[in-house]
Amino acid sequence: MNAPMNYLDGNAAAGELSRVFAVDITSAEGQCANCGAKRRFAEAHVYLQCPGLVARCPVCGHVLLRLANIQERVFLDLRGMTRLTFDTTKQSNATS
Ligand SMILES: [Zn+2]
Repeated sequence: MNAPMNYLDGNAAAGELSRVFAVDITSAEGQCANCGAKRRFAEAHVYLQCPGLVARCPVCGHVLLRLANIQERVFLDLRGMTRLTFDTTKQSNATS
């Protein structure tokens, strides 16, 4: 199957997610709720051609995260991940 690549990697979500998280989640490891794959969030496939953004698992394509800005509110849906694991020793802005 040669579907066109119309997504970016998880780093494309860094700007929007920095409005919600005090740490950089692109370096966090997320576990897909569908297939159980554990990958850095930066490896997710991010789609920006929708209202807000959608991040999908790079292994099975399951939706990991949805983020939408509606008026002054940010709606964040993380149901597609069973967990996010952060290494706080690698967060350059965690103590600033
Ligand atoms: Zn998956």
